[in-house]
Amino acid sequence: MKRDKLNREEIENMLKFIWLREERGDRVDASELGEYLDILKEEGYIDIVNDRVYLTDSGRERAEKIVRLYRLAERLLVDILGIEDYGEHACKFEHVISEEVEEALCTLLGHPRYCPHGEYIPMGRCCITNGDRVERRIYRLSELQPDEEGEIKYVVATGEEGSIMFSIGLIPGKKVKVIRTYPNMVIEIDNAHIAIDRRIAELCYIVKTQLNL
Ligand SMILES: [Zn+2]
Ligand SMILES: [Zn+2]
Repeated sequence: MKRDKLNREEIENMLKFIWLREERGDRVDASELGEYLDILKEEGYIDIVNDRVYLTDSGRERAEKIVRLYRLAERLLVDILGIEDYGEHACKFEHVISEEVEEALCTLLGHPRYCPHGEYIPMGRCCITNGDRVERRIYRLSELQPDEEGEIKYVVATGEEGSIMFSIGLIPGKKVKVIRTYPNMVIEIDNAHIAIDRRIAELCYIVKTQLNL
C-alpha cells in the first residue's frame, strides 16, 4: 500500500497496537506490521532489531498520546455520559481530539490515573502542572472541603484497600459528604459518620453536588 493511501488514523492505530503489546511485555515481530512496516520506519516511529519491533522516542510519544486519549474517552463515556456499553465509540475520539480539548477533558475528569478497566492512563502536561482552566466535574474525595458532598463515580482500589472501601460503603452510586478534614478526615455516608484514612480518600473519585448558596 502506498503511503498516501494510509491515513493518520491507521498509523496511530498501529502505534497504539505496538504500545499496548509493549505494555503487556509482549514483543511485536516485524512481519506482524505488514504494509505498515516501511511507513512506520520511514516516519521514524520504529526500529527493527533482529526482526523485533521497538518504538523510537517519537513513536512512543505519539503512541502514548493515543492511548491516553482513548482511555480518557472511556472515562468520559462511563463517568459523565453514563454509557457503559460504548463498544467502538471511544476508538474514534482519540484521533480527533486537539491538545487543548485533551487538557480540558482530562481536567473535567479530575486527571484520572486509570481507565474503567483499571489500565494506566499516561499523564499529560495538565496532570503535572497545577491550575485548572476549566471547571472540573470529578474530584477525589480527598480534595473536598467540609460540607461539600457528591456522588461516588468510581474507586480505583483493589486488594486490602478495596475491601476497606467496600466495607464502609465507598462504592459507586453512593452519596458522601465531608464532615471535617482535620485532624483526620470524617465523612458522612448512609447517615453515619466515619473517619477514613486520607489514602483511601485519594482513591475515590466523585462528582461534586453543586451547592445552591
Ligand atoms: Zn480501558
Ligand atoms: Zn490531566
